[in-house]
Parts: sequence; C-alpha cells; structure tokens
Amino acid sequence: MPADEIVTHSSEETIAKGREIAEKLRPPVLVLLKGDLGSGKTTLTKGIISGLGAAKEEDVTSPTFNLVHEFHIHNPAGNEMNPNPCKVYHVDLYRIESFHDLESLGLEDALSEKSIVIIEWPEHFTFRTDWPTVEIRLDHAGGDSRRIAISDLNMKNELK
Ligand code: ADP
Ligand code: MG
Repeated sequence: MPADEIVTHSSEETIAKGREIAEKLRPPVLVLLKGDLGSGKTTLTKGIISGLGAAKEEDVTSPTFNLVHEFHIHNPAGNEMNPNPCKVYHVDLYRIESFHDLESLGLEDALSEKSIVIIEWPEHFTFRTDWPTVEIRLDHAGGDSRRIAISDLNMKNELK
C-alpha cells in the first residue's frame, strides 16, 4: 500500500481517519504513532480503537500513568474485517526511561499473541518484530490542522 497523506481540520476528522484505518487492521499488527505532543496521536487512537469495536471513543484516553491500556474485541459482529476476538493494546512510551521500565510493561506478552498494538512515542524504544507494521506520522499544520502520513512498512502478511 502506498503512503497515504491527508490533512484534517478538527479532532473529529482525525477520529474519522482513525476509524478508516481500523477497517484495514488485521492482527497481528503494530501501529507506530509518531509526532509531537498535541499532534493528535491519542485522538487518532480514539478513532482506531472505537472503529475496531474495542471501546467507546471517550473510553480511549492517554495511557500517561499506566503506559499500557488493554482492550478486547469480544464480539466482532458487524465487523467482518476482524472476525476473531483479539486484544488491542494502546501504549505510550513518552515516559519510558530504560529497558527495565519497558520490561515491566509486559509488552512482550502483547507481542507474543496475535493482537493489535498501538504505540505512541515508538522512537523511545527499538522494536524487533516481524509483525506487519504501520507507521503513522502526525504533524501540526497550523491551528487545528494536522497532517497525517501513513506508511505500511512490511504488510507482507496483510489480508490473511
Ligand atoms: P498527542 O497524543 O499526539 O499528544 P492528543 O491527541 O492527546 O495528542 O491531543 C491533540 C489535541 O489537539 C487535542 O486537544 C485535540 O482536541 C486537538 N486537536 C485540534 N485539532 C485537531 C486535529 N485536526 N486532529 C487531532 N487533534 C486535534
Ligand atoms: Mg498522546
């Protein structure tokens, strides 16, 4: 899939984009969200996780304190794109300071089962995984505008 770039003009538009992205995600997949504070990573995640049917938008909040929030797709009825129940992890590595911290997050568990793992601030750690990975870069583009660029890095296993 080629890189896809759009500009949104409100958080609602960014959430809508997240819902669109959700339709294309199949576990296992790693979604890396890059961009400055306030660029809209958590807002986009609201769209992705609600689009997956794993939680309501308002229940997707920044994992600032826990660093990892876990959701479940229990009943994928109506969402034929994700026919199997799976876990969805929303991770924020902004505060991660060491490998030790990372180990205590239990990310290994997340990466040992077929799940959907969404990571804010992935630059704070190097991930070694052969999982299909989607990288999304968000940038401020003046006022309420945000540029969102999506690239599939290794979607070899896509559409299983
Ligand atoms: P991050 O997780 O990257 O730090 P957040 O999603 O938490 O960013 O915050 C983005 C902030 O910017 C929110 O307060 C949101 O309402 C606001 N905002 C304004 N315009 C947009 C937009 N087009 N897309 C996303 N967020 C926007
Ligand atoms: Mg955030």
